[in-house]
Amino acid sequence: MGELNTFPVSYRVEGQRIVIVGGGEDALNKARLVVKTTASVVIISRKIEADFSTLAVTLAERPFEARDLDNVALLFVAESGPDGAAAQAEARARKIPVNVVDVPEACDFYTPSIIDRAPLTVAVSTEGDAPVLARLVRARIEALLSPELGPLARLAGSLRARVAATLTKLQARRFYEELLTTTEPDVETLIEAHASENAGEVWLIGAGPGAEDLLTLRAQRLLQAADVIVHDQLVPDAVVEMGRRDAERIPVGKKKGHHSFTQAQINALLVRLAKQGKRVARLKSGDPMVFGRAGEELTALRKAGIAYRIVPGISAALAAAADTATPVTLRKVSTGLIFATAHGADDGELDHWAALASSGLTLALYMGKSIAATTAGRLLGRGMNPSLPIGIVVNAGRRNRSFHRGTLGALASGALEMANGPAIIFVGETVAHGDWADAPAITWKKVMVA
Ligand code: SAH
Repeated sequence: MGELNTFPVSYRVEGQRIVIVGGGEDALNKARLVVKTTASVVIISRKIEADFSTLAVTLAERPFEARDLDNVALLFVAESGPDGAAAQAEARARKIPVNVVDVPEACDFYTPSIIDRAPLTVAVSTEGDAPVLARLVRARIEALLSPELGPLARLAGSLRARVAATLTKLQARRFYEELLTTTEPDVETLIEAHASENAGEVWLIGAGPGAEDLLTLRAQRLLQAADVIVHDQLVPDAVVEMGRRDAERIPVGKKKGHHSFTQAQINALLVRLAKQGKRVARLKSGDPMVFGRAGEELTALRKAGIAYRIVPGISAALAAAADTATPVTLRKVSTGLIFATAHGADDGELDHWAALASSGLTLALYMGKSIAATTAGRLLGRGMNPSLPIGIVVNAGRRNRSFHRGTLGALASGALEMANGPAIIFVGETVAHGDWADAPAITWKKVMVA
């Protein structure tokens, strides 16, 4: 179940009347809103006090009569006298939706704040809870939408039949996207260009650590343009939801433990979708080039001759550093940061652990949560100091993040209870320079020594 008590719709009023009962400022304000429509607007009041002279409305300075509600789409009651009450009762009987100014409980509908780029309208509503917020949001949206948009939308409307006859669905959508985002578009050239286009592409997009507002603007724009979104399990629904609403979504869940798609299957899927002419957003957690199997996917795309683009994202280690205000490089303390897997190297020639242990740099260990103690043990085994600070951030960058702080020695000797979710393990002196201890509203758990 949702949380809205109202449902926003665009209600048809063309060819009908909108009646406002009342003649003061409240009536004038409602009149200003509804004159944006093609309905004829009638103001009824025994005494018309406000100045309606600049608005295209009919004034009736007299008591309300039942027949005033013939062929009426909406009724506004903007006065508290007997006429208002009578109009309200009559509208109820005729099932005409009523808005009573400043009496939310008597309203069948509320009037949103409106951004008018006819035929494009944006309505902002807070269900009456915070009209000031609605106005603030409206001002922002006003600034975003150029005045050209209205005429462009009309132009798009007039081209619909022709576009449907000339272009495939996919081509048509891209045509409209370009038409509506270009100033003074040349329609003929655009239609021609899109009629001959059908090349798919794959975009490897970094989704960041899992908060919607840690997505880049570019990632968001491409997600809006994608035909298909192929996403990992680690990318939370809220981020996947930022994509175009009718884009197909394919979870290729590579959650720890159960792989529903093998990497080879994912590679083949990306190639197949792009060959169908689709624009594929391959959404990966964090940054796509950091432990994201981007290498394999790019190889497959290059081999198949498919165009690709890469959009960087905020990698988990950087989100974790931000969460804990840990400067992962610091003069005189650490001259670098190593992004490393806690799983060691498949390649026996590369001595992963020895390299990490001797670097003297801050380590950011990925994929190490379930093997944290073993990992710490391996580093100690290669000569790392047991008193070296470690810090763990679970669910970095997300609202439900939690922190743990201790030493490498303690981590090696105890099982640590951590919340559900992915984790980054930092090892190094820089951890001592972050806000790990007194961060407010954070679950602080001690590293347990077995
Ligand atoms: N491309 C990703 C990493 C994917 S590998 C990136 O750049 O962040 C998966 C590992 O990333 C997890 O095992 C965990 O170590 C880490 N990770 C991903 N999201 C995380 C998050 N929100 N908080 C902490 N660690 C995270």
